[in-house]
Amino acid sequence: MRPIDSPLCKVGLVLSVLRPKTPRRSRHIATLCLLGLIAGCGDGNSRGASNEFRSGEVNVELPSGEIIRVLPKQSLVILPSGEELRATAGEATVGESLVLMAKDGTVSAHRKPDIVSQELVRLPTLYLRADTLERVVAESGYESNAFVDPATGQLCWIALTCNNAACASAGPDGGPVLFLWPEAGVSLGQNGQVVRSLAPSNGWPTCPHCGGQKTVEKFELPEVVSRRGKLEAELRRVRDARDAIARDRAQ
Ligand SMILES: [Zn+2]
Repeated sequence: MRPIDSPLCKVGLVLSVLRPKTPRRSRHIATLCLLGLIAGCGDGNSRGASNEFRSGEVNVELPSGEIIRVLPKQSLVILPSGEELRATAGEATVGESLVLMAKDGTVSAHRKPDIVSQELVRLPTLYLRADTLERVVAESGYESNAFVDPATGQLCWIALTCNNAACASAGPDGGPVLFLWPEAGVSLGQNGQVVRSLAPSNGWPTCPHCGGQKTVEKFELPEVVSRRGKLEAELRRVRDARDAIARDRAQ
C-alpha cells in the first residue's frame, strides 16, 4: 500500500474541524486539531488481516480543551497515559466530550449531548417586574411564569409579546412591545417566595394592544434565539454523526 492510500492519511484528510463561534467560547467549543498527522504515515504502517495499525496517531483537542490521542483504528481511543477508554463501535466518552469514529476513519469530537441539552434548558429568560415593568433576566433559565428577582426580592412575570403583524405594538425603544399577564391567586409571600392560592382564573394572556390571544407568545431575547439555534444545530451534528456510525455497524 502506498502511504497516501493508508487509512491513517485518510483519517487526517477527512478529519472535521469545528471552529469556535465566538472568542469567549473558543476555550470550550470543539476545536478539532490535527497534530502530527503525517508522523508515522508510511512509516511502518501496515495492515494485516486484523485491520489494525501498528503506528501513527492523531491528537484531537476535545471541546473541554483536553487533548487525547486517537489511534487510527476503529473503536479505540487512547489517552496519553495509555488508559483505554470505554469505546463501543466507534464511540467514546472523555470527560464532557464525545468522540465519534466512523468506519471510514472520520473522527469528530463533540460536547456530550446531555451537556448541550442542559445549556438549552438554562438559557436566560426575560421577566418583567410586576410593579415597574423593569426587565429582569433570569440567568438560570425558565422557572415558571412567576419569578422572584433575587437582586430586589420583587415579583416578576414572564415577558410576553404579540406576533400579530397587524398589531400596532412597538415598545418605547422601537423593539417589540412587552407586557405581562399576572396569574390570579399568585402573590409574593412574606418569606420572599411565590405563593399560589386558589382563585378564579383570569383566562389566557391577551395582547393589551390588539386584544389578540392566539398571537401572544413568550418573548425570547434575541441572543437566546441565536444561541438556541446554535445548540440545536450542535445536537443535530452529533445525532447525524451517530447515525452514520449506526449505519456503519448495520453494514
Ligand atoms: Zn397585539
